[in-house]
Amino acid sequence: HAQPRVLEVRQLAKRYGRREAVAGISFSVHRHEIVGLLGPNGAGKTTTINMLLGVLAGDGGEIRIDGLDLKRQRSQALGRTNFAAIYAPLPGNLSVRQNLRLFGMLYDVPALETRIGELLEQFELQTLAETKCGLLSSGEQTRVSLAKAMLNQPRLLLLDEPTASLDPAKAHELRQLIRGIATEHDTGILWTSHNMQEVEAVCDRVLFLSRGRILLEGDPRQLPRAHGYENLDALFI
Ligand code: ATP
Repeated sequence: HAQPRVLEVRQLAKRYGRREAVAGISFSVHRHEIVGLLGPNGAGKTTTINMLLGVLAGDGGEIRIDGLDLKRQRSQALGRTNFAAIYAPLPGNLSVRQNLRLFGMLYDVPALETRIGELLEQFELQTLAETKCGLLSSGEQTRVSLAKAMLNQPRLLLLDEPTASLDPAKAHELRQLIRGIATEHDTGILWTSHNMQEVEAVCDRVLFLSRGRILLEGDPRQLPRAHGYENLDALFI
């Protein structure tokens, strides 16, 4: 792969009592790449994302973000990550600009006002900059959530079921925006989903997770027939 790895996971494991939620998985995400993490309920997607965010300790294995070890270089590694919780509301009484300023200060973004200006432009939010977030449509709020996630120029962007609360038209719009981010920014994206069609539409590569293990990995448009995709399909909604 020509692009550098923004995420490298080796033998990552997490056990809850006797249950192996994540059973020693290894995978990577490259810059400009959207990787789908697909699997049925309970497959271990959220457990994996929580370990990548550093909020859940794994039992074993290694996570490297932009080459930095999450255990040994924790704050630096996390500084190169961000996540967008599309369903989480933004403070509604703050304007778009104030929201970006608030989170930008938390991330300690250098030259913050310039960065905010760039993001307003990239996410077509200039005319809404002084509008309170509580007054925005859900599509507009999604754009603000993504702009917020890009404040610190993350190398790795984590999206945990980003379209779960969206109708088909808004989900489509979001997929276009995420494709734009992967193309235009020096970022790789890990996208969890239950939905195989969605992953086919947006991801460059997909990992099928089942019971904490990666069953299959590859280009979602090439895997199917070669690997009995129809049988797997029954596992997913
Ligand atoms: P979903 O899409 O439903 O969120 P998931 O793929 O994200 O599913 P996880 O939430 O990672 O799956 O859960 C993986 C397994 O670990 C499941 O069997 C779940 O019941 C179990 N599990 C998750 N969190 C805990 C916990 N805190 N204590 C005990 N078991 C847990």
